[in-house]
Amino acid sequence: MKRLNGVRLSHRKGTATSHTVRIPLPEQVTIPMLMNMGAPCTPLVKAGDTVSVGQKIGDTDAFMSVPVHSSVSGTVKAISDLKLANGNTCKAVTIETDGNQTVSEEVKPPVVHSKEEFIKAIRESGITGLGGAGFPTHIKLNPKTPVDTLIINAAECEPYITSDHRQMLEDPDSIIDGIQTVMKYLKIESAVIGIENNKPDAISLLTQKTSSFPDITVKALPASYPQGAEKVLIYNTVGRIVMEGQLPSDTGAVVLNVSTAAQISHYMKTGMPITERRITVDGDIVSKPCNVFAPIGTAFSEVLAYAQCDTEKLKKLIAGGPMMGACAFDLTTPVVKGTNAILAFEKYSEPTVTNCIRCGRCIKACPFNLMPTEMEKAYQKRDIETLKALKVTLCMNCGCCTYVCPAGRKLAETNQLAKALIPRN
Ligand code: SF4
Ligand code: SF4
Repeated sequence: MKRLNGVRLSHRKGTATSHTVRIPLPEQVTIPMLMNMGAPCTPLVKAGDTVSVGQKIGDTDAFMSVPVHSSVSGTVKAISDLKLANGNTCKAVTIETDGNQTVSEEVKPPVVHSKEEFIKAIRESGITGLGGAGFPTHIKLNPKTPVDTLIINAAECEPYITSDHRQMLEDPDSIIDGIQTVMKYLKIESAVIGIENNKPDAISLLTQKTSSFPDITVKALPASYPQGAEKVLIYNTVGRIVMEGQLPSDTGAVVLNVSTAAQISHYMKTGMPITERRITVDGDIVSKPCNVFAPIGTAFSEVLAYAQCDTEKLKKLIAGGPMMGACAFDLTTPVVKGTNAILAFEKYSEPTVTNCIRCGRCIKACPFNLMPTEMEKAYQKRDIETLKALKVTLCMNCGCCTYVCPAGRKLAETNQLAKALIPRN
């Protein structure tokens, strides 16, 4: 089977052996009412209210949404506007912690007998894709077309990030239980766990743990970027192609991030929604690179302080990986459900942009054989028909084209702007 293109990156997985530790409870958290793809929640609490861990503090009737829960016990200090990475704003609830971490009476294992009840429970859990994309999991688990295969994304192909790797090593049983739970309620016949071969310990452990489950297999994948991109992973694990305009479920597959699978197990057993996040903390000004658990809403500054980061030298702060992560505005940025890494750098310089030398490296690097250089030209002319013909909507913003371009052209960024020109049906 032909492998899709991509690039070989320096892995920089220096935290792969760092056991996850809980950071000290912050004095306050600021919990955004929008942490996922879709609609924001409306706060259900007001300043002065007492809240506890796992209590629902935000919700909405919008289809593409999940509720938001408190990660701490304490008192609501304020409801304010928070600027998001995409420039939009949403409401955020700031809670002063009381140090007790009292668990809400709402936290009870869900009673589930059917697929419908399972999907409803997963929405109530607030679970969204923990790989960073933040797609509501209950929608992903309720496709319109029949599904026969569950693919677990354990590739973790971005440099630096090891939070999924630590999930696999520290709590493999929850992953397998989460997979079995999804297979049971969605009546899925088989599951494949795709892991890059730069994590031999995780491959070995999960192979051993799944040996008595013939319907779950572990597949070692080449360590190349973007191995964890959904369409790439589907092709490289089960050989199915997601065509332009299709969803993975149109090929009979559902893809879940490996930490999402574990979170499903955790919620079904305890009823505790997602209130904390395993995060890799790394970068050239971080003295103690590590993996930590931090409550949702913790300011990046608190996490970086734990990792002994010299923030005076900070030039670039990234939420997520260096290829697809989002730059954070400042150190008050709160941890959200999708925060799998916080990277802080001093050494950073914008590349000088020069004219395209028609070397073709961007096309060779693109996993979908798109033509970023031609798409850039079409975007400059705002030529929508040519952009459609070049299949710009297939671009997943992986950044491979930008990474390899010797002329420093911001091809992936341009593609995102170009995609926005294409009218949605
Ligand atoms: S950002 Fe888009 S065009 Fe560039 S390599 Fe990735 S998928 Fe291809
Ligand atoms: S990699 Fe850069 S220089 Fe080479 S063809 Fe693509 S845009 Fe032009």
